[in-house]
Amino acid sequence: MKHIAIIGAGPAGLMAAEAAIEAGAQVSIYDAMPSVARKFLMAGKSGLNISHSEEAALFRSRYRAPGSRLHEMIAAFGPGDVERWMNGLGIESFTGSSGRVFPATMKASPLLRAWLARLREGGARIHVRHRWQGWDEAGALVFQAPDGEVRLKPDAVILALGGASWSRLGSDGAWAELLAEKGVELAPFQPSNCGFEVAWSKRLLDGFEGAPLKGVKLSAGQQAGQGDVVITRRGIESGALYPLSADLLRQIEETGSAQLKVDLLPDVDMDGLRRRLAAANPKDSSSNRLRKAARLERTKIALVNEIARGAPPADAGDLAAFLKALPVRIDAPAPMDEAISTAGGVSWDALDERLMLKALPGVYCAGEMVDWDAPTGGYLLTACLAMGRAVGKAAAAS
Ligand SMILES: Cc1cc2nc3c(=O)[nH]c(=O)nc-3n(C[C@H](O)[C@H](O)[C@H](O)COP(=O)(O)OP(=O)(O)OC[C@H]3O[C@@H](n4cnc5c(N)ncnc54)[C@H](O)[C@@H]3O)c2cc1C
Repeated sequence: MKHIAIIGAGPAGLMAAEAAIEAGAQVSIYDAMPSVARKFLMAGKSGLNISHSEEAALFRSRYRAPGSRLHEMIAAFGPGDVERWMNGLGIESFTGSSGRVFPATMKASPLLRAWLARLREGGARIHVRHRWQGWDEAGALVFQAPDGEVRLKPDAVILALGGASWSRLGSDGAWAELLAEKGVELAPFQPSNCGFEVAWSKRLLDGFEGAPLKGVKLSAGQQAGQGDVVITRRGIESGALYPLSADLLRQIEETGSAQLKVDLLPDVDMDGLRRRLAAANPKDSSSNRLRKAARLERTKIALVNEIARGAPPADAGDLAAFLKALPVRIDAPAPMDEAISTAGGVSWDALDERLMLKALPGVYCAGEMVDWDAPTGGYLLTACLAMGRAVGKAAAAS
């Protein structure tokens, strides 16, 4: 029986284990942390968005990955398969009005419990507190474990070590150095689906740090997102920013900063807003005009004054245009460790069509550690599961 060592017990590694077991292999799973799948469990805290029900071509278009291999893997194990797989573990699914797919309980823990039970039934041995440290001179894997060093030489190795954010959950990206030493081509890690830094004035922060801008529309380049945005000490945080993060990062890389447009009143059309502002009492102060005629709440008025440096346009047409496209200067992404996901990692050129490392025959890679990117919305987990499935099968068949 073929013995496969899987390093990294996140969704990609666990799905690789499942596919390898189905293909008749014996599987040992190793993770550095005291328990498995910590990021997956964290993802479930705010509702585990495991996939998306939109049409297949649109779904695949959400991914940024050179070449078509990721698309092929998602075509082989896509959103419908993810949902059926979850249902097969006894977890009902729920599709939100946006098309996002979740477990009906929203949490990850019942799904993870059922999944681990099935893997153990299939003979998987799970070793936590085993930090992989590379290979020895004889080509054996080396782990630092509670009782000292562990060395082993399995028939195949699957690396599913995750990206480089939320290091406290295990995904620290430290593996990149081990692969670089072996001549594996890597793309630098970059934060994705992240918050951004804005140099707010002390005055704004004193009054409004932690306050939400409710129901605003954000845009950058061709991308847009809508939702609540929180003003933080460092800048802004919002799920509505995530679809824009790739465009904002590109702008920052090219010019040193990026411009975010904030529509404070996405449900009011420009002409209606202009008329309301024009009809305001001319004796009203600028802030009263924003409150009464534009019906803006305090945080939004504070942001208008911050961006306009206390002097918003007086003309009703100019002011309406300003409120519907407030230009906010973004200086940098928030620190990478706080990002939901990271782009970069193992280059596609370093992998063959089965996701085996060309420089290290018998060693496969899956999940966020490979250089691809996608917005939130269930795309990240679906790709990790699809890649895990593909490498599990490939390693067992090799
Ligand atoms: C707050 C938050 C919310 C999220 N919400 C969603 C969501 O709703 N939908 C979605 O699609 N995605 C979501 N994500 C992203 C998603 O969780 C990740 O993309 C996914 O977990 C990546 O899976 P992975 O298996 O590739 O890696 P990971 O889940 O990061 O797992 C990698 C594993 O490798 C282990 N490891 C690393 N180095 C070593 C080593 N040297 N030795 C041994 N073990 C090692 C780690 O301990 C870890 O357990 C969210 C992420 C966060 C942080």
